[in-house]
Amino acid sequence: MNYISTRGQSPSVSFAEAVAAGLAPDGGLYFPQEIPNLSGNIEVWESLSYADLCFAFLEHFTEDYDSGILRSIIYDAYASFSHPDIAPLKNLEDNLFVLELFHGPTLAFKDFALQVLGNLYAEKIKNTGEKLNVLGATSGDTGAAAIHGLLDKPGANIFILYPKGHISDLQERQMTCTGADNVFPMAIEGSFDDAQNVIKEIFSDQEFRSSYNLSAVNSINLARILAQCVYYFYAYFRLPLDKRENVEFVVPTGNFGNILSGWLAQKMGLPIKSLKIATNRNDILYRLFNTGVYSVSPVEFSHAPSMDIQVASNFERFLYYVEGNNPQRILDIMTEFKSTGTYKFKEFNPDTLSSSHTSDEEIENTIHRVHEQYDYIVDPHTACGFKAIDPEKTTVILATAHPAKFPKTIEKAIGIEPTIESLEILKEKKSIFYPIAAEKKAIQGFIEENAVS
Ligand SMILES: *Cc1c(COP(=O)(O)O)cnc(C)c1O
Repeated sequence: MNYISTRGQSPSVSFAEAVAAGLAPDGGLYFPQEIPNLSGNIEVWESLSYADLCFAFLEHFTEDYDSGILRSIIYDAYASFSHPDIAPLKNLEDNLFVLELFHGPTLAFKDFALQVLGNLYAEKIKNTGEKLNVLGATSGDTGAAAIHGLLDKPGANIFILYPKGHISDLQERQMTCTGADNVFPMAIEGSFDDAQNVIKEIFSDQEFRSSYNLSAVNSINLARILAQCVYYFYAYFRLPLDKRENVEFVVPTGNFGNILSGWLAQKMGLPIKSLKIATNRNDILYRLFNTGVYSVSPVEFSHAPSMDIQVASNFERFLYYVEGNNPQRILDIMTEFKSTGTYKFKEFNPDTLSSSHTSDEEIENTIHRVHEQYDYIVDPHTACGFKAIDPEKTTVILATAHPAKFPKTIEKAIGIEPTIESLEILKEKKSIFYPIAAEKKAIQGFIEENAVS
């Protein structure tokens, strides 16, 4: 399997090359040259454990890895999860389900991919003797998960930019209280979009990128997208047989990584009927799906900080597909959008996706209602998934984070502060972070000083 750039100006690459590069040199994102049809495997995969399913799935995409090594990387990654099912599916009522994706080491769905990616990096370092500097921006959870995927791994340093004051205190502590020497949390003024923009600038500086052997952990990384496809299969197999007819997955969305994975799983033959993009008040995608106009607004900070994103990087992969696999068209759209902040589609093709949006007030009300109705606590991101549920469908809402990561909002909604021991411990630890301007020069300087040697 080869991977091509959505902008068509870079050569196609192998899986390992795409993972190492993150962004393609032409600024595009890597996409499978051909989406494989895996529907013939579905019957066999039905009864596999999570780790076995993950291996069976990823093997189709990772030709340049030895399968014994791949298997041990995957087993090791999911051994750190605290629930025996890894991704348990809860039935709230009748045809309403919640897929809990928060039983990994940092209590958000990002662990599913980043535990695997951390091990892939470590394997590469072991084999080549290369040193690696991993760089990413986070809206809260990616940073923690990426850091925990690489904690104390020799030969790798990790640099994570985050918007100071706009992530939860515990999200920040998961990054800043590790005590590990190879971890550099960098606090910027501004929003996640500001952090993501400067990272894109740094990655487009080819010379800098290669002299420090930089790799991106952002949700554009192909390994993340593919690893996340697995839980859609896993969840589908846990639905009762009579509920599989008309299945909709609802995905709390920020950078469009998680939902892209579900949509790809569908294109590979998993019989998902539809997917819903659940946004918070940062509803650029909601507006696009309802008006055909893709138009950026200023980021608004919300109760669901990991979704406080306007320009979703991964959306380009979806566009590439619905615009007929035409890289020139993507280049044109992205160029116009970048220079004017708006792109008006003559006819926008939503494929099987729809979208909802949820205000902060609705988030609080939903947390309250779900607690009353089901005696179940959802975090503020997951709460966005409860909007506009279609009772005719089997709905699977992806629970993207553990409620204990957002105690203030939960307390406000239901008067209870959820706690979990792994987070309580952090409150006693020393927090180390590096304040820095969200500017290319400053960040490159910091990396130069602190790169792994
Ligand atoms: C990252 C994150 C999201 C958004 O996921 P994307 O893949 O960026 O769309 C939603 N909820 C939580 C808790 C997250 O950490």
